[in-house]
Amino acid sequence: MGDRRGESSDSGEEGPQPRVVLPSKARSFTYCPRRYFFEVHLGREPSLWEKIRMRLGTAYHLLLGLIDKLLRGRRVEEPVKASIGGYLIVGRPDAYEVNDGTLRVVERKSGSAPRKGVWLSDMIQSVLYVVALLRSGVQAERSVVELSYAWGGSRIFEVNEDQVSIALRVMQDLWLVEEGIVPAALPSPRKCSTCPFKAECEAIDAELEPPNDGDLHEPGAWLAELGSVYTGFKPLKED
Ligand code: SF4
Repeated sequence: MGDRRGESSDSGEEGPQPRVVLPSKARSFTYCPRRYFFEVHLGREPSLWEKIRMRLGTAYHLLLGLIDKLLRGRRVEEPVKASIGGYLIVGRPDAYEVNDGTLRVVERKSGSAPRKGVWLSDMIQSVLYVVALLRSGVQAERSVVELSYAWGGSRIFEVNEDQVSIALRVMQDLWLVEEGIVPAALPSPRKCSTCPFKAECEAIDAELEPPNDGDLHEPGAWLAELGSVYTGFKPLKED
């Protein structure tokens, strides 16, 4: 099914094509790199409940996007594309605007916010949109992300170098997974109890040698140190 890092049959040659990264995929990778591996290489049909949730999520985004556009004059669901170091970030932030030199990216989530901070996966997705917008020519002196949760309100924070470097590292590891390298599992009772790839995840660890304790680590293993909630910012007040 895949290889541990360093065992891939890939020659390592860089092709001329940039490696496309969708911020939404970076979000999925951050949630659990191993689950992302299965989604990419095995694929699966979403369940009925997931389809219903997707429809409800689309309606929620459409309604709030319309409000953002009409009342606040924000750019809603506009495509953005920008290259950085051989990668091409492609996506559609839910909304963004530039006011008084501040770029604000708004991401709406139909789920719940954590008690403090934001979900790490949401932070990475929205910071990649910020990177793409700035690289594509949007002019701003500072950048702010607003993560607006259906349950738990909005979290607003200024984007800093630390967040950008985490997001770019995710982008690189994500591509190792695309190329077939088996990444780290980030298990938790909450995630694993509903994971459709639980059996495959257990089988893969039984099948493959454990990673060596050398310099090379499984893609995404470092995410375990960060945890699923990101609190490395001072929340900004709502304007
Ligand atoms: S069972 Fe848990 S650790 Fe394994 S892929 Fe699923 S969510 Fe990740």
